[in-house]
Amino acid sequence: MPESRKTVLPRRRLPPAAVCVLTLAALSGHGAAAPAGESGQPGGDRPPNIVIITADDLGWGDLGSYGHPNIRTPHLDRMAAQGQRWTSFYSQAPVCSPSRAALLTGRIHLRSGMFGRRQGVFFPDSGAGLPAEEITLAEALRDAGYATGIVGKWHLGHRPEYLPTRHGFDSWFGIPYSNDMDWRIPSGPGRRAAMFDPRTDYWHVPVMRDEAVIERPADQRTITRRYAEEAVSFIESHRDRPFFLYLPHTMPHMPLFRSEDFRGRSSAGVYGDVIEEIDWAVGQVIETLERLDLAERTLVVFTSDNGPWISYRTHGGSAGPLRHGKGTTFEGGMRVPGLFWWPGTISPGVTQAIGSAMDLFTTAIVLGGGAAPGDRPIDGVDLSPVLLGTGPAPRETMAYYRMGELFAFRLGRHKAHFVTAGRYGLPPERTDHNPPLLFDLGADPGERYDVAAGNPDALAAVVAAAEAHRAGMTVAEPLFDLRGPG
Ligand code: MG
Repeated sequence: MPESRKTVLPRRRLPPAAVCVLTLAALSGHGAAAPAGESGQPGGDRPPNIVIITADDLGWGDLGSYGHPNIRTPHLDRMAAQGQRWTSFYSQAPVCSPSRAALLTGRIHLRSGMFGRRQGVFFPDSGAGLPAEEITLAEALRDAGYATGIVGKWHLGHRPEYLPTRHGFDSWFGIPYSNDMDWRIPSGPGRRAAMFDPRTDYWHVPVMRDEAVIERPADQRTITRRYAEEAVSFIESHRDRPFFLYLPHTMPHMPLFRSEDFRGRSSAGVYGDVIEEIDWAVGQVIETLERLDLAERTLVVFTSDNGPWISYRTHGGSAGPLRHGKGTTFEGGMRVPGLFWWPGTISPGVTQAIGSAMDLFTTAIVLGGGAAPGDRPIDGVDLSPVLLGTGPAPRETMAYYRMGELFAFRLGRHKAHFVTAGRYGLPPERTDHNPPLLFDLGADPGERYDVAAGNPDALAAVVAAAEAHRAGMTVAEPLFDLRGPG
């Protein structure tokens, strides 16, 4: 490792994984953790490569390994079978921009101003972006000697000073915001129809390479395939040193596009076609790592930035047994697939441990041999005790924010709702609850039965934990509402 690393990443050896076999076996009910390398670094002497792949608006129930009956996802299912499948993994927010901010900074989005009072995400006329003072995972890992690349959707500010290349990424190929922005169709009923029969020229979305627009409008039909090709190229180019690849897919966010090779492939219709192409793209990454003999020194994570956009009906995904979808603080809005694959190091299994996408920040830094920044509150916790079998699950709580407001809070198996509201024209109407609703997510993951009346102690414990969380939350000025020149 270079000597020029910042002090945010002091070298810290992880304990040998072998001492922790029993713990993981107890958690997962499966197998044994693999031995660490001679250095004690899991996976060998070199810090592991980190690959984080996200889908956009993919639901908990959209993968074969999460129970979808007919969308075929063999590559993701292989990740699940060979790695760990998390059943209580969350995006940290129910929509794109705040979710991505939390993943990359390890902080709840209120701390970085990544929310609004009127706007829920960044738009093409937004005047702000992720503040420069935030430390992203790319910056932390680059300081630790990693090559860093992003292939995919950014959505944390499209003005030059906010682009990925200003936030720790050496390279970027992708689009700056959502694929349904920059409309070229006047607002009105025609827009909804266009979403179901899309053409790439309906949206003036750019494709960027580093800081230059290289294509506009983006040919969205080939975007998933091109992301896969770019990801493979990045891995091939950086095979000889530790690398961090962040691969946030643009799909299956509406409007749905897929390449000719996937048109009509899935019995689940166009949504299934799109997921099956993303699965193919994941397979390209996995197979490249195996071909280059990098699989045993690479952690690959797959998750989604929020739940399914169910107001688009069959063109939105499925949250499976979970309630509601994108934009809400019901489980379907934020509980998403969480797959961790690292052959020889992560013991295969299914875990019910609670995890958040913002935990990937801390986890990746620790696995890289460092420690999370100590000069600011970090909400992400290190999940490696579960991944490596070195200890118990570190997270007991989950905070569910909508915009800047705490709507719900989970402590262990119980979740209290202080406010409930549907989204995108779907019920329920906003309702404030005092006393809060209480759901037992263990017995009732679909949030059907309010059990507050019969469980006053459990309700009091969740409320107390939520109050403690609120007391520790620092809130920055919201930045999503600031407008700039278009
Ligand atoms: Mg999204």
